[in-house]
Amino acid sequence: MTKLYGCIEAGGTKFVLGIVDEERRIRARGRIETRAPADTIGEALAWFEAASAEHGPLAAIGIASFGPLDLDPASATWGHITRTAKPGWSGADIAGPFARAFGCPVAIDTDVNGAALAESLWGAARGADVAVYITVGTGIGGGLVVAGMPVHGVGHPEMGHASPPRHPDDHDFAGICPFHGACLEGLASGPAIAARWGASLSELPADHPGHAIIAFYLAHLTATLTAIAAPHRIVMGGGVLGTPGLLDRVREQARLLGGGYFADRGENVIVAPDLGNDAGLLGAFALARSVDL
Ligand code: ZN
Repeated sequence: MTKLYGCIEAGGTKFVLGIVDEERRIRARGRIETRAPADTIGEALAWFEAASAEHGPLAAIGIASFGPLDLDPASATWGHITRTAKPGWSGADIAGPFARAFGCPVAIDTDVNGAALAESLWGAARGADVAVYITVGTGIGGGLVVAGMPVHGVGHPEMGHASPPRHPDDHDFAGICPFHGACLEGLASGPAIAARWGASLSELPADHPGHAIIAFYLAHLTATLTAIAAPHRIVMGGGVLGTPGLLDRVREQARLLGGGYFADRGENVIVAPDLGNDAGLLGAFALARSVDL
């Protein structure tokens, strides 16, 4: 019998739920609105109970979640959200209810680590031993996979809260991160762009200086990642990266920042995602498979 996996893309505004088989076919798909934790998780459990009754038992469940998350397997609060500004969700147990309800292994990681894993297995970073996935939208997040394993240390990577130097034409804006002000997310996320220029990047004219400023900040992250971990691929997605020409501007800025030193590390390190709208669910699927031993 074909193995089935429960897959959850847990986002701040919606949870996408799926049953995916071992051939990577999505057998069932659901979507629920993110509300208070008990309501949201209760509804997700009911969806999986019904879907599992129809399709068959689950071999494992994977959760690719918003964070921050406790991912220390030795911790009593493994699989919980830690401290978040999202009302009601600080300390919420995401993984536990699914493990208790279905009695199968449960894997949880950040949404961006899940996406990095999925892109490295089947997408734009296929074959990359060191792969990064960065999303630039409402927030900025990044996941890092090395040799097929999502990386965590003390907590998980928080690439959006790295601190780039200021662009010379962007000294007047304080930044919007509640913790750091002018970290990368505070300077280059969608809300930071809207706070500064009153529009999204794609709505600004092509000759607006905002395009070069945002590319400069994002390129600093890619250049830093290249200096530290030398990724084979840095996959960049999210709503802001949908701005025409932005990915090319980031590549060009990154090349300038490299000063010729990293030129032998390949032309195509910075790439667009390949898995489209299914990346989140497939990230959860990749996590589920990793605990089905
Ligand atoms: Zn920050």
